[in-house]
Amino acid sequence: MKLRSALTALALTLATGLAATQAIAQERFTLRLAETWGPNFPIFGDATKNMARMAEEMSDGRLRIRIDSANKHKAPFGIFDMVKAGQYDLGHSASYYWKGKVPNTLFFTSMPFGMTALEQYAWFYHGDGMALMQEVYEPHNMLSFPGGNTGIQMGGWFRKEINSLEDLQGLKMRIPGFAGEVFAEVGVNPTNIAPGELYTALERGTIDATEWVGPALDLRLGFQQIADYYYTGWHEPATELQFLVNKETWEELPDDLREILRIAMRTAAYDMLVHSMHENAGAWASITEEHPNIEVRTFPDEVIQAMFQANQKLLAEAAEGDELAKRIVDSQRQYLDNARAYTEISDRAYLNTMAELE
Ligand code: CA
Repeated sequence: MKLRSALTALALTLATGLAATQAIAQERFTLRLAETWGPNFPIFGDATKNMARMAEEMSDGRLRIRIDSANKHKAPFGIFDMVKAGQYDLGHSASYYWKGKVPNTLFFTSMPFGMTALEQYAWFYHGDGMALMQEVYEPHNMLSFPGGNTGIQMGGWFRKEINSLEDLQGLKMRIPGFAGEVFAEVGVNPTNIAPGELYTALERGTIDATEWVGPALDLRLGFQQIADYYYTGWHEPATELQFLVNKETWEELPDDLREILRIAMRTAAYDMLVHSMHENAGAWASITEEHPNIEVRTFPDEVIQAMFQANQKLLAEAAEGDELAKRIVDSQRQYLDNARAYTEISDRAYLNTMAELE
């Protein structure tokens, strides 16, 4: 009798233990994500939707992600604070938007005269990029992951042609990140404006010029209706968006769901790069036919040289004042040097060879 009770007790304990294990294994999580973009924003918004869909499917429904766009949370530039405070579990935005709060966040989107998308992904995932980014975000109770790359961005829309440095003096331009600071050094008045308000700002003359992304997204916002000069890029050669994850949310997830989330973010990010290429190539194919007023230009040498000098000076200043900034700047410079030498003999050599066939 005694033995039987003991066995029953043991069986009960085992059954309870097993049930508990199953309960843990099947625990479901619904995470809330706030994005900077408006609802159904093409390409950027597709990256968050892809990520959420993959996470849910890979986890057999155990990890659900509910996305709130800017129309819902009303704080396109409040993502950092909301995820830090745990008001949202996840965010989708761009690291350089936070340079006014935490200056070292600006290095993780794209740097003027910096790495291309392929070089920068190599730095993030196989160089020191991820570890350095984590050092910047950890004190703010968050993790940051690459969130999708636009590829090289166009230099922006100008109502007047820029022929010299003189033409930039006092020009009011929407341009975020380090590039805004570089432009300020050569006489521009830089500002940042949320994507939803950009068209009106340019139309009403609140700004004289704006950069946004590239043909696929720029033409949808309609800048070609109010500005004729479309400049090629120098300032954001590989703009990487970001996924932010609240640290407690991350730690609460079981190992398998954490890995599923990591893979969903990484896959969605990389897919945004190829999606951007696809959409930009499509928009570019008919740009001159559909919008004959657009004049594509490259900034004159004088302007590019001045911006390059300003960039070098500002990078040196940033590195001087802050030990972590110095390590990030050094890491990016060294990685760029190494990777670029290979890009020269591979991609550039191939493109040069192709160019000579015509
Ligand atoms: Ca941009």
